[in-house]
Amino acid sequence: MRCHIVMMMGILHGQESMLKWISPRIANTTKECPPMVGIPRQPLPEEGTIICTMSSPIICYIQCLSSMVSKVHEFISSPIKRKRMIYSKTPIETLTKKQIKKVLQFCAEWCYENMGVNNRKRSGLTYSFGKEEDGFYGFYCPVNNHIHVSLTECKTVGRLTSTFIHEYTHYLQPVRTKYIPALITHGYWNNPFEVEARMTEKKFNRYLLSDLRAK
Ligand SMILES: [Zn+2]
Repeated sequence: MRCHIVMMMGILHGQESMLKWISPRIANTTKECPPMVGIPRQPLPEEGTIICTMSSPIICYIQCLSSMVSKVHEFISSPIKRKRMIYSKTPIETLTKKQIKKVLQFCAEWCYENMGVNNRKRSGLTYSFGKEEDGFYGFYCPVNNHIHVSLTECKTVGRLTSTFIHEYTHYLQPVRTKYIPALITHGYWNNPFEVEARMTEKKFNRYLLSDLRAK
């Protein structure tokens, strides 16, 4: 029987979650090591390795399987790689440019699959984002067949995705010829194209967001 006893005490401030992860596993260990059949040997921390501590020093003896040690290694070496969930209320300013691009790409693909496509358009739909502070969440340009969203005005992920859905609805509508006459007749808020776009936002946004989270 191969047995590895690893002394773990350490200095990783603020890693309470690490201790929570380890504690139940320590509690379950016994003096007898389970046989390590079928588990490949992996590099182990040396006995006495300093791994974690809180305000008072904690010394734990862990009879550990190689797999457990590799999990601990994984936990320590890649806390940043762990996936951060994106929620409706996640502030846009906390996302990187790369993450924003991914969210918008997801929106475009999701809308395409779930809301359909406008076959009257000769060119493919394009989209972009910027940091305008003009009071507009976004706009759709029927001439260029282009959606633009403002990251400054859309302060949360939920607002960004609902804006994308709103503008995508305009892309599906015959806005090029009929939007302005409807605007003159009904005004902005009662314009049937706007009413429909707002309804579509409400209808689809939570489904898009839950698909985005599940990704
Ligand atoms: Zn609109």
